[in-house]
Amino acid sequence: MKKAIIFGITGQDGSYLADLLLSKEYEIVGIIRRSSVNNTYRIKHLLDDPRLALIEGDVTDYVSISSAINQHRPDEVYNLAAQSHVKTSFDQPIYTWQANAEGPLNILEAIRNCSPKTKFYQASTSEMFGKNYSIEADRKFQSENTPFLPQSPYAIAKLSAHHTVRIYREAYDVFACSGILFNHESERRGELFVTRKITKWIADFFHWCKNIHVKPSEINIADLIFTEEDIRVPRDRFIDAIAPIILPKLRLGNLDAKRDWGHAKDYVRGMWLMLQQDKSDDYVLATGHSYSVREFLDRAFSHIGVSDWSKLVYIDPAFYRPAEVDYLCGVADKAKAAMGWETEIGFETLVEGMVDHDLGLEAKSLDWQDV
Ligand code: NAP
Ligand code: GDP
Repeated sequence: MKKAIIFGITGQDGSYLADLLLSKEYEIVGIIRRSSVNNTYRIKHLLDDPRLALIEGDVTDYVSISSAINQHRPDEVYNLAAQSHVKTSFDQPIYTWQANAEGPLNILEAIRNCSPKTKFYQASTSEMFGKNYSIEADRKFQSENTPFLPQSPYAIAKLSAHHTVRIYREAYDVFACSGILFNHESERRGELFVTRKITKWIADFFHWCKNIHVKPSEINIADLIFTEEDIRVPRDRFIDAIAPIILPKLRLGNLDAKRDWGHAKDYVRGMWLMLQQDKSDDYVLATGHSYSVREFLDRAFSHIGVSDWSKLVYIDPAFYRPAEVDYLCGVADKAKAAMGWETEIGFETLVEGMVDHDLGLEAKSLDWQDV
């Protein structure tokens, strides 16, 4: 039985990776941060599995990292732990550096010193490309050959880790891979990322409509009373005494940014594949398709029958970033050629699945009366 350590097991990707590795009969040690509240809700379905052990540790603390690696001498280590929110990195650049740049360095040093045969995966990111892209035949894209031009403290720290991985591979012969992953989402995505923020709000809106006896697909936006920041029911409606009559609008920032959005389940399969190759290397994982935040909104709202969402969204400057990444669209040809990796879940399935999940309608066709 292979043994893996997952740093960041309580996050979106860590939880899907744990599902995948357990399905492949791995023994897993998950490193979790000490927290005053329970932070294991994404892996609660795994907590009784005897093949999973959780131990406390923090990637900024070399002592806890090296003692875990020394004690377990795992076959594989996956570093998914990070301060993963780009906007937060502008407010907390120093902590972001410690977690995202020094954290992987701590792990690699521990591997080099205590368990040099351990294979290592680092969660690099398309944010490292920042403003840059390649152009061929009028197509704009990013691949392993596109130069990096990071646009945030998050991306700068990740780029440092990316180069650290390369140095440990070349200088110390550690089997270390970086996955340059483009955005990947899911029903387990953190609620402050734009996709999940949208699908959570749509679910709230759907239930709000039900409370006021208006079907979202039939809602006449012109009938609703708006203020700049909230929406109110039509005056002529009977309002249940307990029904909320005011709903704050969905507050968003830049709707024109474009992202290459895939499903996290496909991406954790790619992480695992990287560590099964004969030689360690870096790979882009992406869908090859790019959509704007606006297009994500179109798709998500149309799933509940709303075609004009313009009056339901409030553009709030607080959600703009000091520096933005405008366009990401990855080419994953290298991963496909070397490992046979491709995405299986497309954009529509991703968006609709997230909306259904937040509505509580997972795996069922959408029926307003059911909710
Ligand atoms: P996530 O949901 O935010 O999960 C991050 C994980 O890291 C959580 O388990 C978190 O623990 C843990 N963590 C944070 N700081 C830590 C520290 N100092 N020590 C130990 N653990 C710490 O992120 P994700 O979406 O799963 O992403 C996984 C990794 O891929 C991250 O490194 C992210 O930057 C990178 N990435 C993500 C994407 C994407 O689109 N999702 C794309 C490219 C790269 P708590 O639960 O205690 O907070
Ligand atoms: P990122 O690509 O890792 O930064 O993922 P996010 O989901 O945080 O952001 C994706 C894009 O959505 C970025 O270009 C943001 O500027 C844009 N965006 C627009 N409004 C919001 C918002 O309210 N929250 C977040 N997180 N992003 C937003």
